[in-house]
Amino acid sequence: METPIGVLRDPVFFQNVKQIKALNQTEAKRIDREAKQVEARSLVSGDVMTLPYDYLVLAMGSEPCIPPISGTDLEGVHTLQGVEDAEALKATMEGGACHHVVIIGGGLIAMKSAEAFVSRRCSLGLDCSVTVVEVLPQVLSFLDPEMALLVQRHLESKGVKVFTGEQVVRIEGENGRATRVVTSALEIAADLVVVATGVRPTVKLAQETGLEIGPTGGIATDLHMCTNDPSIYAVGDCAKTRCLTGPNHCPPTFPSAPPPTSRVG
Ligand SMILES: Cc1cc2nc3c(=O)[nH]c(=O)nc-3n(C[C@H](O)[C@H](O)[C@H](O)COP(=O)(O)OP(=O)(O)OC[C@H]3O[C@@H](n4cnc5c(N)ncnc54)[C@H](O)[C@@H]3O)c2cc1C
Repeated sequence: METPIGVLRDPVFFQNVKQIKALNQTEAKRIDREAKQVEARSLVSGDVMTLPYDYLVLAMGSEPCIPPISGTDLEGVHTLQGVEDAEALKATMEGGACHHVVIIGGGLIAMKSAEAFVSRRCSLGLDCSVTVVEVLPQVLSFLDPEMALLVQRHLESKGVKVFTGEQVVRIEGENGRATRVVTSALEIAADLVVVATGVRPTVKLAQETGLEIGPTGGIATDLHMCTNDPSIYAVGDCAKTRCLTGPNHCPPTFPSAPPPTSRVG
């Protein structure tokens, strides 16, 4: 809850400075579109509260995709989503019990993880291998192959082993702890595994309340990020959005609604 220079951004700050009531550790459990209210529960006290709305904005983010392989529940296997995950990985490295890091996936989060592990390995003076395994023929699949190869060569120059075109088929372990990542052709020693195989939009709450889900799995929205309920908007990782540059840009799904500011203001 702090900015990079240590200024606190807690619920008191938001209330006093922005006049926003921020309810931490509170989970939205149900949306009642008829009554226009959200049922939420405090994770601390268990108290249930009802929050009325005129307009509702859903910004529930995404969650890691875990491939359907065995061994993802072993100790030492992580996903990387929030600060707690990063802290856990850092603590494992600092504990000195980490000799072989394997990152499954060759996307952006995998690249950032590899960079962080190499930098930590250097600063702690650890003898620890870092390996990236990607099923596609190249890392960073959105790049041209020539560009992706430059990234791969850079990783390799920092001592990262990169295997492309390799599909992980299982993670093996002993006494409940990960020891190996197995692909169709390789067995790679691993005591710390990061599964970085993409994310999927968090849409359960929206689905349960009957909001439409788009073809890519995000909450369907029009050009103003309005869902098929004119009082509910969806933004960020949980929403389908229009790509303004790519070939897959989606035309508006619903009749355009004016943005919320022009409605309330
Ligand atoms: C390791 C990593 C590195 C990244 N690096 C970059 C980068 O360099 N540049 C970039 O542009 N993007 C980056 N991203 C992606 C970026 O973090 C996301 O695109 C962005 O955080 C999405 O914002 P959001 O508000 O939609 O969702 P989030 O930031 O995920 O926030 C959603 C919040 O909603 C909460 N929530 C969910 N369901 C409920 C519920 N029912 N009730 C109450 N709260 C709920 C969640 O707990 C979460 O706090 C990175 C992601 C990761 C994991």
